[in-house]
Amino acid sequence: QPSSAHRAPQPDPEAGAAVKAADRAHVFHSWSAQDLIDPPAVAGAEGSYFWDYDGRRYLDFSSGLVFTNIGYQHPKVVAAIQEQAATLATFAPAFAVEARSEAARLIAERTPGDLDKIFFTNGGADAVEHAIRMARLHTGRPKVLSAYRSYHGGTQQAVNITGDPRRWASDDGAAGVVHFWAPYLYRSRFYAQTEEEECARALEHLETTIAFEGPATIAALILETVPGTAGIMVPPPGYLAGVRALCDKYGIVFVLDEVMAGFGRTGEWFAADLSGVVPDLMTFAKGVNSGYVPLGGVAISGEIAETFGKRPYPGGLTYSGHPLACAAAVATINVMAEEGVVENARRLGAEVVGPALRELAERHPSVGEVRGTGMFWALELVKNRETREPLVPYNAAGAANGPMAAFGAAAKAHGLWPFINMNRTHVVPPCTVTEAELKEGFAALDAALSVADEHT
Ligand code: PMP
Repeated sequence: QPSSAHRAPQPDPEAGAAVKAADRAHVFHSWSAQDLIDPPAVAGAEGSYFWDYDGRRYLDFSSGLVFTNIGYQHPKVVAAIQEQAATLATFAPAFAVEARSEAARLIAERTPGDLDKIFFTNGGADAVEHAIRMARLHTGRPKVLSAYRSYHGGTQQAVNITGDPRRWASDDGAAGVVHFWAPYLYRSRFYAQTEEEECARALEHLETTIAFEGPATIAALILETVPGTAGIMVPPPGYLAGVRALCDKYGIVFVLDEVMAGFGRTGEWFAADLSGVVPDLMTFAKGVNSGYVPLGGVAISGEIAETFGKRPYPGGLTYSGHPLACAAAVATINVMAEEGVVENARRLGAEVVGPALRELAERHPSVGEVRGTGMFWALELVKNRETREPLVPYNAAGAANGPMAAFGAAAKAHGLWPFINMNRTHVVPPCTVTEAELKEGFAALDAALSVADEHT
């Protein structure tokens, strides 16, 4: 491992100011009130760290947006992109191109069951949209079921399918989506006390929802295998198998969204491997090439692929399986296999992250719950452990001075870049993170949680 300190860029506050000024003048940012944000300028990144132009180093416990599963600037992936650019930088999708064929082969080799055909997209939202289109054409049915606590993307149909409140502003109601409650024991909708109760009641609720919607009107049921953005709720044992059984009973296409949970994040190649459940379609993006070049896709079962054997699939993208993105995927998957990245996430998750977070929870009254697996963990921060009242959400537009913002600022002051959503901080470092880096991160988290404790 090259020492991160060796690659630290020279501090250059003037250059940083120029980057920020151009950004503020011309870049229109996602999910933001443009006048109320102050995006930090990034000078460089390597492994689990990045630097600003003032020379400050941050340990990235967010993996960007949970995508740099092998960390920043991995030399083998950078070299593969350079090599692909030098030989065949781009080519149209309707050709067989080595990088694309090889990426599809490597992905299909790792996806569960017979999900052996890969439709490439540019990211996660379009993967979700195409999976739903495939399901509708395969079944001839219109509706989609998805969970309230979910995120499936920011394009029109993907945002309609999404359950989290970011849907409200853009939902045009046109996607025929019916939302349901998936398991979440800490804030159970089913008055459950145990995982068994939560699982059984969530399945009963789902079957009732299917019955009242009319099974013959439902094309697809989509779930994040482990809901990510909404709070990293690892489903109770038996839930996904139960959903699989309901989909089989009613002829519904079961789509697992592994855009965030896939490619090592949970300590398995895919989160579906945690339960052994095989969906009919599986979406992926992010970790497939650690986000070095935009790429996503849908892994398709034999039965659904056959639907489009003699009849055309009516959909496609100019950059489907772009050679640069696929070369990055081939290199990333090979790095993950050669360097034992999935095993690293599984082992350090179980032996280091879980115990360290539980230890922090014992000492900090602001921690309401610790949950997760692999390099995919959430701390739920509360004002009161008994009532479970959440700490005020961090929101750049509305609550810049709220407790979660104070918590975030303290983490950053200690050199830790956190992933904060509502009243949660997610611990989602690269799957290549080392034990020493984790310990450095937990020391910063410890200090930041003391700030959160002041609001309990
Ligand atoms: N599905 C899930 C589970 C995701 O986490 C995300 C992104 N956070 C998406 C879909 C959308 O992916 P993208 O932003 O690449 O379109």
